[in-house]
Amino acid sequence: MSVERVVLAAPRGFCAGVEKAIKALDWMTRIFAAPVYCYHEIVHNRFVVDHFRSLGVVFVDDVAEVPAGAPVMLSAHGSPPSVINLARRSGGTVVDAVCPLVTKVHHELKVRARKGYTVLYVGHEGHEEAVGTMAVAPESVHLIESVADIDALGDLPGPFALLSQTTLSLDEWQDIRDYAAQRFPDIWMPNRSDLCFATTNRQAALRAICATADAVIVIGSANSSNTVALVKVAEAAGCPRVLRVNGAADLPDDLSGVVALTAGASAPESIVNDVLAVLDPRDGVEVHSETVEDEYFPPPPELREILRSLAALLDVALQTPTTSSFDGQTDRDFTAAQVLATSFR
Ligand code: SF4
Repeated sequence: MSVERVVLAAPRGFCAGVEKAIKALDWMTRIFAAPVYCYHEIVHNRFVVDHFRSLGVVFVDDVAEVPAGAPVMLSAHGSPPSVINLARRSGGTVVDAVCPLVTKVHHELKVRARKGYTVLYVGHEGHEEAVGTMAVAPESVHLIESVADIDALGDLPGPFALLSQTTLSLDEWQDIRDYAAQRFPDIWMPNRSDLCFATTNRQAALRAICATADAVIVIGSANSSNTVALVKVAEAAGCPRVLRVNGAADLPDDLSGVVALTAGASAPESIVNDVLAVLDPRDGVEVHSETVEDEYFPPPPELREILRSLAALLDVALQTPTTSSFDGQTDRDFTAAQVLATSFR
């Protein structure tokens, strides 16, 4: 390995939605005795999932597997209404860690369906976010993965609306959006696309650095949609070598020249540091910052309620009102990276 320089994209790694989900599940493991259940991987990253497994979290792909009365968290990708209802009927505490930007798309779909629209939803078949969103109004929505899917729709009743998964690559979205607008000139779509700020920021930062790199490394899992989108961005920019790695152990030993490095929204910064240590660039690391993200999403409302109740109980027990009341600041005071550092507990 003879890497000359690493250009590190910023922002990269954890977004506000992933921060919220990881910290919420951590709160759950502190409040409840194991096992705490989680419907689907809390975020698509093996390191994160393994961390929570080590704390006694049991991940299930069918909410019916959660024993009656057990606490359960629903993943950041958003869950179908039937899953949320089934979880709530099981009698245990249910905390929904859905990202608010996914909830926004659920709401758009609900409203358009109620108004009689035929909704084209651009997303990836089988991805949890797409499954959860389309389940909000299955009778009104059609999954679109390519322009060919639009042609295959046949004669459908209008009016039409166009929504999307939050984590697509910008090119993928724009191609389909342009074709849909040409085919259905009056199609409704949100003022800003459903692609979230974290997706577009990470792609913009990578696009700015990858064209001149000898290789691009994207850290993240194969089932992470925004990670795969980053790979597509680098490939579309013509980078000669684009690699997706789960961690430093996946790095090939023949990298050389300038390496552009980024991480998907569910990949921890600790893995970025591991990768940098192995790359060991001769001329150091240069950070290219496209923008600064300062978004913060508070814990899910059900969890805030539990934390407030616990804080109030503590106040009574200690007879020290106001010292432990939960006002949300407690959650802001630590990061998901700290949660994942074993030394933090
Ligand atoms: S990638 Fe976007 S939609 Fe997904 S959790 Fe992060 S902020 Fe939310």
